[in-house]
Amino acid sequence: MPTPRSTEPRRKRRLKDKLADWVLGPEGPQRFSTKVSSTGLVTYVPCMLLVVYCGWAGLTPPQLVVPIVLAMLLTVAGFYAALRSGWSRRFADAGLILPQMLASITWDAIGYVLMGAAHAGMLMPAALTVTYGVFALHGRGAYVVQAYAIVVIGGTMAAMCAIDPAVFPVREAVMVYTSFVVTVLMLGWTGRQIAQLRQRERETRAQLGATLEQIQQRATHDGLTGLHNRRHMQAALAHHLARAERDGVPLALALLDIDHFKQVNDRHGHAAGDAVLAAFARIAEATLPPTEIIGRWGGEEFLVLSTRGLSCDQLQAQVDRIRDRLLQAPIDVPTGKLRIDFSAGVALHRRGTAAAALIDSADQALYAAKQGGRGRSVIAGAPALPPAGNPDLRSPVHAGA
Ligand code: GH3
Ligand code: MG
Ligand code: MG
Repeated sequence: MPTPRSTEPRRKRRLKDKLADWVLGPEGPQRFSTKVSSTGLVTYVPCMLLVVYCGWAGLTPPQLVVPIVLAMLLTVAGFYAALRSGWSRRFADAGLILPQMLASITWDAIGYVLMGAAHAGMLMPAALTVTYGVFALHGRGAYVVQAYAIVVIGGTMAAMCAIDPAVFPVREAVMVYTSFVVTVLMLGWTGRQIAQLRQRERETRAQLGATLEQIQQRATHDGLTGLHNRRHMQAALAHHLARAERDGVPLALALLDIDHFKQVNDRHGHAAGDAVLAAFARIAEATLPPTEIIGRWGGEEFLVLSTRGLSCDQLQAQVDRIRDRLLQAPIDVPTGKLRIDFSAGVALHRRGTAAAALIDSADQALYAAKQGGRGRSVIAGAPALPPAGNPDLRSPVHAGA
């Protein structure tokens, strides 16, 4: 039974989760976006406290404190509602970053007016807003924030110099404004440099990803046929064998070997042999259900691994479907069309049998298929079939020739 000490933090966590759900919405990408976008709204809290302080210290007329704080609360509530309700999702800038930046700079300008003698203190938050803007926004948005800050803060400073030169001296304003503009421009430039670096890094990472994918593809696939290579098939066999041992799922496999393939090379050239291998792979892959894995085991030999618990008879039927397709559709080679056939040995895993023994068993069945006249599939351990009706060597023939 849990002790009160252990239930307390859990209860607190549950309360925290509930509060977070309520404030930011249910778990998911929208919640993350709301959280990130609302972060800036939190900065309004110290600003409101500052307004209260200015009222108390006599820098701002006290009667203005409540309306200003209320207006700031309204700004925060408006952005929060737009983000939390999902209304902002209709815009490309779903986090309303640009409007938030512009509102923030506007409030900085208002603060500049209200703070009277302490007005210079408001330029720092404005520069901070620009910093956030150039990093959070890309391209045009960052320029808009910079331009807006320079124009609005400049306009406000000029207006205040004209209205109340005793509190807002022109000489001081010229100096402060110049350093503000230089700061904003430098921040924008730095932000763009960093954005370019990040973009280059993203591109490099994408290139690395593509190269890694290519390497993985080459390491696991056969270059000529595009099928899985022997290494991958060995790993797949080990994986499915372990599963078969653990769960007792039947595991059947078949070794397919093209008949008289050497003759294809000898009579039609190596390129024709390559074309036959590629076409064979394409047809076999297209005929087998996606649940069966096929790979090039070596030369003109292929391994089919049944991953969905087919029996030997069922896998043999799948293999025979490949044969039917091959016989129906002769393969195009530069010298004409060739009708290709193959022999196959099918074997079923038995508990405790190692991969090598299972392959060996299929190999023996394949040998029996070759001995039995080729162009057939033999199940390991099954009685040998009599030779096929056409006892000739069924060498690759020119279709329709
Ligand atoms: P069987 O019916 O008994 O299987 O006879 P076979 O001629 O098919 O078998 P054999 O082992 O005598 O010959 C296989 C040939 O496959 C020999 C080899 O040159 C050729 N071969 C292996 N890999 C490739 C390849 O990638 N491209 C080409 N064109 N030929 C290949
Ligand atoms: Mg062969
Ligand atoms: Mg062979």
